[in-house]
Amino acid sequence: MASCEICERESADEEPPGGWVLRTDLWSACVAPGFEVPGWLFLELRRHAEGPMGMNDAEAAELGGLIRDVSVAIQSATGAERVYLMAFGELYPHFHVLLAPRMPFAPDDEKGPALFGKRAELADPAAAYETATRVCQALTAAS
Ligand SMILES: [Zn+2]
Repeated sequence: MASCEICERESADEEPPGGWVLRTDLWSACVAPGFEVPGWLFLELRRHAEGPMGMNDAEAAELGGLIRDVSVAIQSATGAERVYLMAFGELYPHFHVLLAPRMPFAPDDEKGPALFGKRAELADPAAAYETATRVCQALTAAS
C-alpha cells in the first residue's frame, strides 16, 4: 500500500531515525515521525492491517508480551511512573500502538489523554532517538 507511511517504513531498506527498537517477524517498534518525544514509541504491525480488528491470531497472541516487554524497557530507560498505551488509528489506520511514558511529578496537562496533545511541544528528536537506543538496550538486556 504505497500511500501508507507505516508500510513505507516497514518495507524501506534503511532503519528509521533512531533505529528499530524491536523487530520480530510480526511487529516492529521505533520512533515515529511527528511523535519524537523521548520514550514515545510506535509498536506497529509489519504488514498492513487496519485497527485491532485486522490482527491475525499470531499477531494478536504476540502483542501482549511485546506490550509488557517494551513497557518494562521504557520504564527502565526513562524512570516513567506510568507507561500509557494509545491506539486511535486516525492519523495512520495501519494498526499500531503508541507507548508513552508519563513521568513522575508530571503537570496535569501531561497526564492522561492530555499528554497526547502535547506531542509537538514535548518533541525533541535527538533525545527521542537517544532514548530509543536505551530502550533497545534495556530490551536486549532483559531477553
Ligand atoms: Zn500500512
